[in-house]
Amino acid sequence: MTDLPQHSEKKLGLVIDLDTCVGCHACVVACKGWNDQAYGAPLSDSEPYGADPSGAFLNRVHSYEVLPETGPAQHVHFPKSCLHCEDAPCVPVCPTGASYKRVEDGIVLVNEDACIGCGLCAWACPYGAREMDPSAGVMKKCTLCVDRIYNDALPEEDREPACVRTCPANARHFGDLGDPESAVSQLVAERGGIDLMPEQGTRPVNKYLPPRPRDGWGGDTDVLAPYLEPVAEEPQGFLGWLDRTLGKL
Ligand code: SF4
Ligand code: SF4
Ligand code: SF4
Repeated sequence: MTDLPQHSEKKLGLVIDLDTCVGCHACVVACKGWNDQAYGAPLSDSEPYGADPSGAFLNRVHSYEVLPETGPAQHVHFPKSCLHCEDAPCVPVCPTGASYKRVEDGIVLVNEDACIGCGLCAWACPYGAREMDPSAGVMKKCTLCVDRIYNDALPEEDREPACVRTCPANARHFGDLGDPESAVSQLVAERGGIDLMPEQGTRPVNKYLPPRPRDGWGGDTDVLAPYLEPVAEEPQGFLGWLDRTLGKL
């Protein structure tokens, strides 16, 4: 069993904008790519080119069609990785101490050398954010790219999570959510950022920005109709003369 830190001043995490995420999966591929290249053991795939491919991913995007009470249906793309919860239930259930939360920045990690692959942490996580790597036999999860964000060997602009760096829609933001002055905290305050499943009492550090309401078109209005009207009852000018002349032939 591992104790959670009483308090971590710094709370590094992600803010994910559900309004601008287009569900392109670039963050999924970037996450898999970076972790395959840099992680202790690769995130294994099974039958990647076969009929039933499967594999371990630390970040997944789920897409939903939402039907509002009024107005047209909306698509919401919902990226999900570990939320680095303050009261992370995955940590105290770990029998070997392999799962832990860092005091200095709040990142939740797994020490693979101590993990016995019992899966208790995956059972305890209400978000399904942990991944058993079937080849390595150990539990893996989003590391918040701890090997990028503090990595002096990388150019400064690359010292952020791979998924944030790659998102073409700028839907993913990284920063210190423990600092109310940080850009991410201000974004959460301005856009009414929310916790995922707050009733679970996990106090996630990551936040989601809800989709903005879409502009309505006034019920059954056909938005194309005005553009499909003829510009004049009868053709005018040279084209009118040509039309009339040709019509007489
Ligand atoms: S890369 Fe950005 S836009 Fe694409 S799925 Fe991920 S969060 Fe959404
Ligand atoms: S999202 Fe799940 S794996 Fe991540 S800290 Fe919270 S409980 Fe643990
Ligand atoms: S922070 Fe890193 S490990 Fe976590 S989802 Fe993004 S790319 Fe993957």
